[in-house]
Amino acid sequence: MAAEEHFVGVDVGGTKIHAAVVSNAGVVLDRRREPTPREGGPDAILAAVVKTISRLLDDAKVGKTLQGVGLAVPGLLDYKKNRVDASPNTDISGLNLITPIRKTFDVPAAFANDTDAATLGEKWVGSAREANTAVGVFVGTGIGGGILVNRELLRGARYSAAEIGHIVMDIHGPVCGCGNRGCFEALAGRVAMERDIRRAISEGRPTVLAEWIGGADEPIRSGMLRRALDAGDELTKEVLTRAGEVMGQAAVTLRHIFEPDVIIFGGGVIEACGDFLMPLIESALAADPYFRRPGGRVVQSALGDDAGVLGAAAAAMMQAGCDPFDPEAVAFDHYPKLAMTKRDKVRADKKLLDGDLAVRVNGRVRKRDKDSDAPNLASAAELTCGDLDRACRGGPGILIIGANDSSPLPDACNEYLRRRAIASEILSPQKAIKRFNTLQARKAMLLLTGEAANA
Ligand SMILES: [Zn+2]
Repeated sequence: MAAEEHFVGVDVGGTKIHAAVVSNAGVVLDRRREPTPREGGPDAILAAVVKTISRLLDDAKVGKTLQGVGLAVPGLLDYKKNRVDASPNTDISGLNLITPIRKTFDVPAAFANDTDAATLGEKWVGSAREANTAVGVFVGTGIGGGILVNRELLRGARYSAAEIGHIVMDIHGPVCGCGNRGCFEALAGRVAMERDIRRAISEGRPTVLAEWIGGADEPIRSGMLRRALDAGDELTKEVLTRAGEVMGQAAVTLRHIFEPDVIIFGGGVIEACGDFLMPLIESALAADPYFRRPGGRVVQSALGDDAGVLGAAAAAMMQAGCDPFDPEAVAFDHYPKLAMTKRDKVRADKKLLDGDLAVRVNGRVRKRDKDSDAPNLASAAELTCGDLDRACRGGPGILIIGANDSSPLPDACNEYLRRRAIASEILSPQKAIKRFNTLQARKAMLLLTGEAANA
Protein backbone atom coordinates (compact mmCIF):
# COMPACT_ATOMS: atom_id res chain seq x y z
CA MET A 1 0.00 0.00 0.00
CA ALA A 2 1.42 3.35 -1.06
CA ALA A 3 1.71 6.31 1.26
CA GLU A 4 -0.74 9.17 1.07
CA GLU A 5 0.33 11.86 -1.37
CA HIS A 6 -1.36 15.17 -2.06
CA PHE A 7 -2.33 17.03 -5.19
CA VAL A 8 -4.22 20.27 -5.67
CA GLY A 9 -7.12 20.38 -8.12
CA VAL A 10 -8.55 23.75 -9.12
CA ASP A 11 -11.83 24.30 -10.96
CA VAL A 12 -11.60 27.75 -12.57
CA GLY A 13 -15.23 28.71 -13.16
CA GLY A 14 -16.94 31.81 -14.51
CA THR A 15 -18.17 32.83 -11.06
CA LYS A 16 -15.91 31.00 -8.60
CA ILE A 17 -12.48 29.45 -8.23
CA HIS A 18 -12.80 26.15 -6.35
CA ALA A 19 -9.50 24.65 -5.15
CA ALA A 20 -9.11 21.40 -3.23
CA VAL A 21 -6.36 19.35 -1.65
CA VAL A 22 -6.91 15.83 -2.97
CA SER A 23 -5.22 12.65 -1.76
CA ASN A 24 -3.94 10.02 -4.19
CA ALA A 25 -7.00 7.99 -3.14
CA GLY A 26 -9.17 10.67 -4.75
CA VAL A 27 -10.48 12.11 -1.50
CA VAL A 28 -11.02 15.86 -1.05
CA LEU A 29 -9.26 16.62 2.25
CA ASP A 30 -9.63 20.38 2.26
CA ARG A 31 -11.11 23.02 -0.01
CA ARG A 32 -11.41 26.72 -0.62
CA ARG A 33 -13.73 28.76 -2.82
CA GLU A 34 -13.06 32.34 -3.93
CA PRO A 35 -14.99 34.54 -6.38
CA THR A 36 -13.55 34.79 -9.91
CA PRO A 37 -12.52 38.45 -10.45
CA ARG A 38 -14.85 40.20 -12.91
CA GLU A 39 -12.34 42.97 -13.71
CA GLY A 40 -8.64 43.04 -14.50
CA GLY A 41 -8.72 40.42 -17.27
CA PRO A 42 -6.65 37.22 -17.46
CA ASP A 43 -3.88 38.55 -15.16
CA ALA A 44 -6.34 39.20 -12.33
CA ILE A 45 -7.80 35.69 -12.73
CA LEU A 46 -4.32 34.11 -12.72
CA ALA A 47 -3.41 36.09 -9.57
CA ALA A 48 -6.66 34.96 -7.91
CA VAL A 49 -5.95 31.31 -8.79
CA VAL A 50 -2.43 31.56 -7.29
CA LYS A 51 -3.78 33.26 -4.16
CA THR A 52 -6.54 30.67 -3.71
CA ILE A 53 -4.03 27.80 -3.96
CA SER A 54 -1.58 29.53 -1.57
CA ARG A 55 -4.24 30.12 1.07
CA LEU A 56 -5.53 26.58 0.71
CA LEU A 57 -2.02 25.17 1.20
CA ASP A 58 -1.40 27.45 4.21
CA ASP A 59 -4.55 26.17 5.92
CA ALA A 60 -4.13 22.55 4.89
CA LYS A 61 -0.45 22.35 5.90
CA VAL A 62 0.34 19.91 3.12
CA GLY A 63 3.93 21.16 2.92
CA LYS A 64 6.40 18.76 1.38
CA THR A 65 3.86 16.14 0.32
CA LEU A 66 2.39 18.37 -2.43
CA GLN A 67 3.11 16.51 -5.68
CA GLY A 68 1.35 18.54 -8.35
CA VAL A 69 -1.32 21.05 -9.32
CA GLY A 70 -4.08 20.48 -11.89
CA LEU A 71 -6.49 23.02 -13.32
CA ALA A 72 -9.93 22.52 -14.87
CA VAL A 73 -10.53 25.41 -17.23
CA PRO A 74 -13.57 26.35 -19.35
CA GLY A 75 -13.04 26.76 -23.09
CA LEU A 76 -10.76 25.48 -25.82
CA LEU A 77 -7.21 24.74 -24.68
CA ASP A 78 -3.95 24.41 -26.59
CA TYR A 79 -2.13 21.59 -24.80
CA LYS A 80 1.06 22.14 -26.79
CA LYS A 81 1.42 25.80 -25.89
CA ASN A 82 -0.13 25.41 -22.41
CA ARG A 83 -2.52 28.20 -23.33
CA VAL A 84 -6.25 28.91 -23.23
CA ASP A 85 -7.21 29.49 -26.87
CA ALA A 86 -10.75 30.72 -26.33
CA SER A 87 -13.05 30.85 -23.33
CA PRO A 88 -16.39 32.47 -24.19
CA ASN A 89 -17.68 33.12 -20.66
CA THR A 90 -14.51 33.61 -18.60
CA ASP A 91 -11.91 36.27 -19.40
CA ILE A 92 -8.87 33.99 -19.72
CA SER A 93 -8.43 33.71 -23.50
CA GLY A 94 -4.73 33.72 -24.42
CA LEU A 95 -3.60 32.97 -20.87
CA ASN A 96 -0.78 30.52 -20.09
CA LEU A 97 -1.78 29.17 -16.69
CA ILE A 98 0.70 26.33 -16.45
CA THR A 99 4.11 28.02 -16.40
CA PRO A 100 3.35 30.52 -13.59
CA ILE A 101 1.68 27.83 -11.45
CA ARG A 102 4.63 25.47 -11.94
CA LYS A 103 7.12 28.19 -11.04
CA THR A 104 5.20 29.48 -8.02
CA PHE A 105 4.60 26.10 -6.39
CA ASP A 106 7.64 24.25 -7.76
CA VAL A 107 5.66 21.12 -8.70
CA PRO A 108 4.39 19.65 -12.01
CA ALA A 109 1.27 21.41 -13.30
CA ALA A 110 -1.37 20.33 -15.84
CA PHE A 111 -4.67 21.59 -17.15
CA ALA A 112 -7.74 20.17 -18.84
CA ASN A 113 -10.96 21.52 -20.25
CA ASP A 114 -13.49 21.70 -17.38
CA THR A 115 -15.94 19.05 -18.59
CA ASP A 116 -13.09 16.81 -19.78
CA ALA A 117 -11.75 17.09 -16.21
CA ALA A 118 -15.18 16.29 -14.75
CA THR A 119 -15.38 13.15 -16.93
CA LEU A 120 -11.89 12.15 -15.80
CA GLY A 121 -12.92 12.71 -12.18
CA GLU A 122 -15.97 10.46 -12.59
CA LYS A 123 -13.73 7.80 -14.16
CA TRP A 124 -11.21 8.10 -11.35
CA VAL A 125 -13.49 7.83 -8.34
CA GLY A 126 -17.07 8.53 -9.46
CA SER A 127 -19.85 6.61 -11.14
CA ALA A 128 -17.68 5.71 -14.19
CA ARG A 129 -14.95 4.13 -12.04
CA GLU A 130 -15.46 0.68 -13.58
CA ALA A 131 -15.57 2.01 -17.16
CA ASN A 132 -12.73 2.12 -19.65
CA THR A 133 -14.71 4.06 -22.22
CA ALA A 134 -17.07 6.72 -20.90
CA VAL A 135 -18.89 9.78 -22.17
CA GLY A 136 -19.70 12.65 -19.78
CA VAL A 137 -22.62 15.02 -20.42
CA PHE A 138 -22.79 17.99 -18.05
CA VAL A 139 -26.00 19.99 -18.16
CA GLY A 140 -25.74 23.45 -16.65
CA THR A 141 -26.15 26.89 -18.21
CA GLY A 142 -25.11 25.16 -21.44
CA ILE A 143 -24.10 21.54 -22.05
CA GLY A 144 -20.48 20.40 -21.93
CA GLY A 145 -19.01 17.00 -22.57
CA GLY A 146 -16.01 14.77 -22.14
CA ILE A 147 -15.03 11.56 -23.91
CA LEU A 148 -12.74 8.99 -22.41
CA VAL A 149 -11.60 6.15 -24.70
CA ASN A 150 -9.57 3.36 -23.12
CA ARG A 151 -8.96 5.56 -20.07
CA GLU A 152 -7.64 8.47 -22.13
CA LEU A 153 -9.38 11.72 -22.91
CA LEU A 154 -10.20 12.15 -26.58
CA ARG A 155 -8.91 15.59 -27.44
CA GLY A 156 -9.13 15.76 -31.23
CA ALA A 157 -6.67 16.95 -33.85
CA ARG A 158 -6.78 20.56 -32.58
CA TYR A 159 -7.96 19.82 -29.03
CA SER A 160 -11.59 20.77 -29.69
CA ALA A 161 -13.26 17.33 -29.50
CA ALA A 162 -16.17 16.41 -27.23
CA GLU A 163 -18.29 19.52 -27.87
CA ILE A 164 -21.31 17.34 -27.14
CA GLY A 165 -23.53 20.35 -26.42
CA HIS A 166 -23.25 21.31 -30.08
CA ILE A 167 -24.51 18.08 -31.66
CA VAL A 168 -27.18 19.41 -34.04
CA MET A 169 -30.42 17.70 -33.07
CA ASP A 170 -32.96 19.81 -34.96
CA ILE A 171 -31.73 21.44 -38.17
CA HIS A 172 -34.64 23.91 -38.05
CA GLY A 173 -34.33 24.48 -34.31
CA PRO A 174 -33.50 27.64 -32.35
CA VAL A 175 -30.17 29.38 -32.98
CA CYS A 176 -27.46 28.29 -30.53
CA GLY A 177 -24.83 30.51 -28.89
CA CYS A 178 -22.32 28.90 -31.28
CA GLY A 179 -24.22 30.11 -34.35
CA ASN A 180 -25.64 26.78 -35.50
CA ARG A 181 -29.31 25.85 -35.32
CA GLY A 182 -30.88 23.31 -33.01
CA CYS A 183 -27.81 22.26 -31.02
CA PHE A 184 -28.36 19.89 -28.06
CA GLU A 185 -27.57 22.79 -25.70
CA ALA A 186 -30.00 25.13 -27.51
CA LEU A 187 -32.75 22.57 -26.86
CA ALA A 188 -31.93 21.17 -23.43
CA GLY A 189 -29.47 23.40 -21.54
CA ARG A 190 -30.67 25.53 -18.62
CA VAL A 191 -30.71 28.67 -20.74
CA ALA A 192 -32.89 26.87 -23.30
CA MET A 193 -35.32 25.78 -20.55
CA GLU A 194 -35.41 29.33 -19.27
CA ARG A 195 -36.17 30.65 -22.77
CA ASP A 196 -39.10 28.22 -23.10
CA ILE A 197 -40.43 29.07 -19.63
CA ARG A 198 -40.27 32.83 -20.19
CA ARG A 199 -41.99 32.47 -23.55
CA ALA A 200 -44.81 30.42 -21.99
CA ILE A 201 -45.22 33.00 -19.22
CA SER A 202 -45.44 35.82 -21.78
CA GLU A 203 -48.16 33.80 -23.53
CA GLY A 204 -50.10 33.70 -20.28
CA ARG A 205 -49.40 30.11 -19.13
CA PRO A 206 -49.95 29.81 -15.37
CA THR A 207 -46.87 28.72 -13.38
CA VAL A 208 -45.49 29.18 -9.88
CA LEU A 209 -42.30 30.42 -11.55
CA ALA A 210 -44.07 33.61 -12.69
CA GLU A 211 -44.00 34.84 -9.08
CA TRP A 212 -40.52 33.57 -8.26
CA ILE A 213 -38.43 34.80 -11.17
CA GLY A 214 -36.78 38.18 -11.09
CA GLY A 215 -35.94 40.45 -14.02
CA ALA A 216 -34.75 39.30 -17.43
CA ASP A 217 -31.10 39.43 -16.29
CA GLU A 218 -31.75 37.20 -13.27
CA PRO A 219 -31.38 33.57 -14.31
CA ILE A 220 -33.84 30.79 -13.41
CA ARG A 221 -31.46 28.61 -11.42
CA SER A 222 -31.60 24.82 -11.22
CA GLY A 223 -32.72 24.98 -7.57
CA MET A 224 -35.76 27.02 -8.62
CA LEU A 225 -36.68 24.39 -11.22
CA ARG A 226 -36.42 21.79 -8.43
CA ARG A 227 -38.78 23.75 -6.19
CA ALA A 228 -41.23 24.19 -9.07
CA LEU A 229 -41.18 20.43 -9.68
CA ASP A 230 -41.81 19.80 -5.99
CA ALA A 231 -44.76 22.21 -6.17
CA GLY A 232 -46.21 20.09 -9.01
CA ASP A 233 -45.85 22.93 -11.54
CA GLU A 234 -47.20 21.70 -14.90
CA LEU A 235 -45.19 24.07 -17.09
CA THR A 236 -41.90 23.11 -15.40
CA LYS A 237 -42.75 19.42 -15.81
CA GLU A 238 -43.53 19.98 -19.48
CA VAL A 239 -40.32 21.92 -20.19
CA LEU A 240 -38.16 19.43 -18.27
CA THR A 241 -39.87 16.47 -19.96
CA ARG A 242 -39.03 17.92 -23.37
CA ALA A 243 -35.43 18.59 -22.29
CA GLY A 244 -35.13 15.09 -20.77
CA GLU A 245 -36.35 13.50 -24.00
CA VAL A 246 -33.74 15.47 -25.96
CA MET A 247 -31.07 14.32 -23.45
CA GLY A 248 -32.25 10.76 -24.01
CA GLN A 249 -31.94 11.06 -27.79
CA ALA A 250 -28.47 12.62 -27.40
CA ALA A 251 -27.52 9.64 -25.22
CA VAL A 252 -28.77 7.26 -27.94
CA THR A 253 -26.57 9.04 -30.50
CA LEU A 254 -23.55 9.03 -28.18
CA ARG A 255 -24.01 5.30 -27.64
CA HIS A 256 -24.21 4.69 -31.39
CA ILE A 257 -20.96 6.60 -31.97
CA PHE A 258 -18.80 5.52 -29.01
CA GLU A 259 -20.49 2.44 -27.55
CA PRO A 260 -19.13 3.46 -24.15
CA ASP A 261 -19.35 1.38 -20.98
CA VAL A 262 -21.26 4.25 -19.38
CA ILE A 263 -22.69 7.65 -20.24
CA ILE A 264 -22.49 9.94 -17.21
CA PHE A 265 -24.99 12.75 -16.74
CA GLY A 266 -23.99 15.52 -14.34
CA GLY A 267 -24.01 19.30 -13.89
CA GLY A 268 -26.26 21.67 -11.94
CA VAL A 269 -29.54 20.78 -13.70
CA ILE A 270 -28.96 17.03 -13.18
CA GLU A 271 -27.87 17.58 -9.57
CA ALA A 272 -31.13 19.42 -8.87
CA CYS A 273 -33.60 17.53 -11.08
CA GLY A 274 -31.89 14.17 -11.78
CA ASP A 275 -34.67 12.07 -10.25
CA PHE A 276 -37.06 13.58 -12.82
CA LEU A 277 -34.70 13.61 -15.83
CA MET A 278 -32.76 10.35 -15.45
CA PRO A 279 -35.79 8.04 -16.00
CA LEU A 280 -36.54 9.91 -19.26
CA ILE A 281 -32.95 9.39 -20.42
CA GLU A 282 -32.99 5.73 -19.36
CA SER A 283 -36.24 5.02 -21.19
CA ALA A 284 -34.96 6.64 -24.41
CA LEU A 285 -31.96 4.30 -24.31
CA ALA A 286 -34.15 1.30 -23.49
CA ALA A 287 -36.46 2.11 -26.44
CA ASP A 288 -33.61 2.38 -28.99
CA PRO A 289 -34.57 -0.19 -31.66
CA TYR A 290 -31.04 -0.30 -33.09
CA PHE A 291 -28.70 -1.07 -30.15
CA ARG A 292 -30.42 -3.87 -28.28
CA ARG A 293 -27.32 -5.37 -26.69
CA PRO A 294 -26.44 -4.54 -23.08
CA GLY A 295 -23.84 -1.88 -22.29
CA GLY A 296 -23.87 1.86 -22.74
CA ARG A 297 -25.53 2.22 -19.37
CA VAL A 298 -26.45 5.70 -18.23
CA VAL A 299 -25.33 6.77 -14.75
CA GLN A 300 -25.62 9.94 -12.73
CA SER A 301 -22.56 11.87 -11.53
CA ALA A 302 -21.54 10.60 -8.10
CA LEU A 303 -19.19 13.51 -7.45
CA GLY A 304 -21.43 16.51 -8.13
CA ASP A 305 -19.57 19.79 -7.84
CA ASP A 306 -16.34 17.94 -6.91
CA ALA A 307 -15.98 16.21 -10.31
CA GLY A 308 -13.95 19.16 -11.67
CA VAL A 309 -11.43 19.46 -8.81
CA LEU A 310 -11.01 15.68 -8.66
CA GLY A 311 -10.47 15.42 -12.42
CA ALA A 312 -7.98 18.30 -12.27
CA ALA A 313 -6.12 16.48 -9.49
CA ALA A 314 -6.09 13.29 -11.61
CA ALA A 315 -4.56 15.30 -14.47
CA ALA A 316 -1.90 16.58 -12.03
CA MET A 317 -1.17 13.01 -10.91
CA MET A 318 -0.61 11.92 -14.51
CA GLN A 319 1.63 14.93 -15.11
CA ALA A 320 3.66 13.92 -12.03
CA GLY A 321 4.10 10.41 -13.45
CA CYS A 322 1.55 8.63 -11.22
CA ASP A 323 -1.29 6.45 -12.47
CA PRO A 324 -4.52 7.46 -10.72
CA PHE A 325 -6.21 4.27 -11.96
CA ASP A 326 -3.68 1.91 -10.33
CA PRO A 327 -5.47 0.45 -7.28
CA GLU A 328 -2.14 -0.63 -5.76
CA ALA A 329 -0.98 2.98 -5.60
CA VAL A 330 -3.89 4.10 -3.48
CA ALA A 331 -3.84 4.59 0.30
CA PHE A 332 -7.03 4.63 2.38
CA ASP A 333 -5.55 5.61 5.71
CA HIS A 334 -7.64 8.70 6.42
CA TYR A 335 -10.70 6.91 7.85
CA PRO A 336 -11.39 6.92 11.60
CA LYS A 337 -11.18 3.62 13.48
CA LEU A 338 -14.70 2.87 14.72
CA ALA A 339 -15.64 0.87 17.81
CA MET A 340 -18.83 0.10 19.73
CA THR A 341 -18.64 0.81 23.45
CA LYS A 342 -20.39 -1.26 26.11
CA ARG A 343 -23.11 1.34 26.37
CA ASP A 344 -23.96 1.14 22.68
CA LYS A 345 -22.17 4.34 21.90
CA VAL A 346 -19.77 4.63 19.01
CA ARG A 347 -16.16 5.69 19.27
CA ALA A 348 -14.53 7.19 16.17
CA ASP A 349 -10.81 7.26 16.97
CA LYS A 350 -10.95 8.90 20.40
CA LYS A 351 -14.24 10.71 20.02
CA LEU A 352 -17.37 9.30 21.67
CA LEU A 353 -20.53 9.73 19.60
CA ASP A 354 -24.25 9.35 20.08
CA GLY A 355 -27.14 8.56 17.75
CA ASP A 356 -27.33 7.79 14.03
CA LEU A 357 -24.12 8.59 12.16
CA ALA A 358 -22.81 9.02 8.67
CA VAL A 359 -19.12 8.54 7.86
CA ARG A 360 -18.28 10.13 4.55
CA VAL A 361 -15.68 9.26 1.94
CA ASN A 362 -13.38 11.94 3.38
CA GLY A 363 -13.46 10.21 6.78
CA ARG A 364 -15.49 12.93 8.47
CA VAL A 365 -18.25 11.83 10.80
CA ARG A 366 -21.62 13.58 10.66
CA LYS A 367 -25.02 13.10 12.25
CA ARG A 368 -27.28 11.16 9.88
CA ASP A 369 -29.78 14.02 9.90
CA LYS A 370 -28.86 17.71 10.20
CA ASP A 371 -31.81 18.09 12.56
CA SER A 372 -30.37 17.05 15.92
CA ASP A 373 -33.85 16.10 17.22
CA ALA A 374 -34.34 13.53 14.46
CA PRO A 375 -35.15 10.11 15.95
CA ASN A 376 -32.64 7.25 15.68
CA LEU A 377 -33.64 4.70 13.06
CA ALA A 378 -33.65 0.93 13.49
CA SER A 379 -34.05 -0.05 9.85
CA ALA A 380 -32.62 0.83 6.43
CA ALA A 381 -36.24 0.81 5.23
CA GLU A 382 -36.71 4.12 7.06
CA LEU A 383 -33.89 5.88 5.18
CA THR A 384 -34.56 8.59 2.58
CA CYS A 385 -32.62 9.74 -0.49
CA GLY A 386 -31.73 12.83 1.56
CA ASP A 387 -29.97 10.60 4.12
CA LEU A 388 -28.04 8.86 1.31
CA ASP A 389 -27.14 12.21 -0.22
CA ARG A 390 -25.64 13.36 3.08
CA ALA A 391 -23.68 10.12 3.61
CA CYS A 392 -22.57 9.60 0.01
CA ARG A 393 -21.16 13.07 -0.61
CA GLY A 394 -17.81 12.62 -2.33
CA GLY A 395 -18.90 9.47 -4.19
CA PRO A 396 -18.14 6.22 -2.31
CA GLY A 397 -17.82 2.92 -4.19
CA ILE A 398 -19.68 1.21 -1.37
CA LEU A 399 -22.07 2.32 1.35
CA ILE A 400 -22.12 0.13 4.45
CA ILE A 401 -25.32 0.38 6.46
CA GLY A 402 -25.42 -0.81 10.05
CA ALA A 403 -28.94 -1.41 11.42
CA ASN A 404 -30.56 -3.51 14.14
CA ASP A 405 -33.28 -4.59 11.71
CA SER A 406 -32.26 -6.24 8.45
CA SER A 407 -35.05 -4.83 6.22
CA PRO A 408 -33.93 -3.68 2.76
CA LEU A 409 -33.70 -0.07 1.56
CA PRO A 410 -36.77 1.58 0.01
CA ASP A 411 -36.93 1.38 -3.80
CA ALA A 412 -36.15 5.09 -4.22
CA CYS A 413 -32.92 4.66 -2.22
CA ASN A 414 -31.90 1.61 -4.28
CA GLU A 415 -32.52 3.68 -7.44
CA TYR A 416 -30.37 6.48 -5.98
CA LEU A 417 -27.46 4.08 -5.41
CA ARG A 418 -27.89 2.21 -8.70
CA ARG A 419 -27.84 5.46 -10.73
CA ARG A 420 -24.54 6.45 -9.10
CA ALA A 421 -23.01 2.94 -9.28
CA ILE A 422 -22.66 2.78 -5.47
CA ALA A 423 -22.80 -0.73 -3.97
CA SER A 424 -24.42 -1.24 -0.57
CA GLU A 425 -24.43 -3.75 2.27
CA ILE A 426 -26.80 -3.92 5.23
CA LEU A 427 -25.32 -5.55 8.35
CA SER A 428 -25.86 -5.49 12.09
CA PRO A 429 -24.20 -2.43 13.68
CA GLN A 430 -21.34 -4.52 15.14
CA LYS A 431 -20.67 -6.31 11.86
CA ALA A 432 -20.96 -3.06 9.91
CA ILE A 433 -18.30 -1.42 12.09
CA LYS A 434 -15.97 -4.38 11.65
CA ARG A 435 -16.55 -4.39 7.89
CA PHE A 436 -15.96 -0.64 7.68
CA ASN A 437 -12.72 -0.82 9.66
CA THR A 438 -11.22 -3.62 7.56
CA LEU A 439 -12.46 -2.87 4.04
CA GLN A 440 -9.78 -1.24 1.85
CA ALA A 441 -12.06 0.78 -0.43
CA ARG A 442 -13.57 4.13 -1.11
CA LYS A 443 -16.29 3.68 1.44
CA ALA A 444 -18.98 5.47 3.41
CA MET A 445 -21.17 4.31 6.27
CA LEU A 446 -24.58 4.95 7.75
CA LEU A 447 -24.85 3.64 11.27
CA LEU A 448 -28.43 3.43 12.57
CA THR A 449 -28.65 3.09 16.32
CA GLY A 450 -32.41 2.77 16.96
CA GLU A 451 -33.76 -0.40 18.55
CA ALA A 452 -35.59 -2.85 16.29
CA ALA A 453 -39.23 -3.28 17.34
CA ASN A 454 -38.91 -7.05 17.73
CA ALA A 455 -35.45 -6.97 19.33
ZN1 LIG B 1 -24.20 25.12 -30.69
